[in-house]
Amino acid sequence: MKKKIIIIGNGFASLFFVGYFLSLPILPVFAFFLRRIYSRYDITVIGNGRFVYFPAIPEFIIGKKNKDSITLDIRPWLWRRNIRFINDRVVDIQDGGRTVLTTQGRYTNDALFIGTGPAFRLEDIPGTGTHTFSPCGGPDEMNAFMQKLENLREGIIYVGFKLNKRDGFVAGRGGQMYECACLLDYALKEKNRRDKFEIHLFSPDIEPGETGAITDRLLERGIILDYGYEPAEFVEGGLRDADGTFRKADLVLFTPGIMASEWLRQSCLPISVGGHIDIDKFGRVKGLENVFAAGDCSNHENPPPWVPHQAHMAQLRSQAAAKNMRATLNGQEPSHTYRFELSCILNMENDAMWLHAASDDKPPFWNIFPRHSRKLVTVKDMFERLYLFYLRHL
Ligand SMILES: Cc1cc2nc3c(=O)[nH]c(=O)nc-3n(C[C@H](O)[C@H](O)[C@H](O)COP(=O)(O)OP(=O)(O)OC[C@H]3O[C@@H](n4cnc5c(N)ncnc54)[C@H](O)[C@@H]3O)c2cc1C
Repeated sequence: MKKKIIIIGNGFASLFFVGYFLSLPILPVFAFFLRRIYSRYDITVIGNGRFVYFPAIPEFIIGKKNKDSITLDIRPWLWRRNIRFINDRVVDIQDGGRTVLTTQGRYTNDALFIGTGPAFRLEDIPGTGTHTFSPCGGPDEMNAFMQKLENLREGIIYVGFKLNKRDGFVAGRGGQMYECACLLDYALKEKNRRDKFEIHLFSPDIEPGETGAITDRLLERGIILDYGYEPAEFVEGGLRDADGTFRKADLVLFTPGIMASEWLRQSCLPISVGGHIDIDKFGRVKGLENVFAAGDCSNHENPPPWVPHQAHMAQLRSQAAAKNMRATLNGQEPSHTYRFELSCILNMENDAMWLHAASDDKPPFWNIFPRHSRKLVTVKDMFERLYLFYLRHL
């Protein structure tokens, strides 16, 4: 009998999981027929069918990317792999992972993978949901921010982030907000309006007086550093401090810390102190059989403190989880672990930096790319094009 596998979510973690779980013959047309003739697994993905390439959202600010260019219908990609797709939202997981409930149905499985992405700690700072925008909210929210920005002739813009570090790693979006601040600077200069705007970068998670390459890039651009600052509340027209001081802001782009979604935290899954799905070093949900998770919804076992939630980390984690699920379905013990790596290109459009750290000190791509060069803007673009080409056509 074929083993029934359910995958929840159709974002980076889930798609990488599928990619590593199925062996990929070279010719997609051949693979398409082969999978219909013979497959050991009956795989179902439950999600909304829309894949969003989040790393490109900051580039909305410079008009280089838009919703259509970074969103795609993932159903043909799944169909080519003989994977059933259910367009629905999961609301609960029961029976130690064996039953998945959606708004419309109930599905059982022999093995489960959870890749439902982040939930943001909106309640952490009151007013976040009402008075701030975030690139992490997706293309529509970023478009709303851009519309407001385009209506401003002058003003004060606060760009900030807060991290959830309670699980011993960086659950939040620092790099992305640095990128947004630098791209804002670039876009306003292009429109000859930079001198009419103040751009602030704030975060309670950066030590006041912190130095380094990122700080240098921000200072070069005249961005005001509010390192160490956390507002008590976001309010209409600005931010309010704990002592009642009001700071005027015409626009706030802010992203709070990350954890797993509320419904997951209410399900039968174990949850870490920081609010993530609690997994072990094999990507297995602790205490449950044949249940795996990866990506922004889950924590790590013994992570280095610098490791962030990233699509790149989701890939490494999903690879291990896919191999381990295959092993457990074959009656073996999981043995595949994953490396920790922070790797991303900070695109400032007129400049770029490759931010990198790895638990095994391996450099990115054998060091063939420079670490600080405008050419990295093209490299980042190339990664995006390649990945979207793969999803669209292979
Ligand atoms: C602005 C921005 C810039 C970024 N830049 C980079 C970068 O340069 N490099 C990098 O490596 N990473 C970057 N990231 C981070 C990266 O996008 C995330 O780490 C990655 O998307 C996490 O993958 P995921 O699969 O866990 O979550 P997601 O990609 O968010 O996917 C989650 C999936 O689960 C689905 N889902 C959620 N709830 C349910 C439910 N109840 N039922 C069914 N389906 C559900 C969603 O619809 C979605 O399909 C960036 C993120 C942002 C927001």
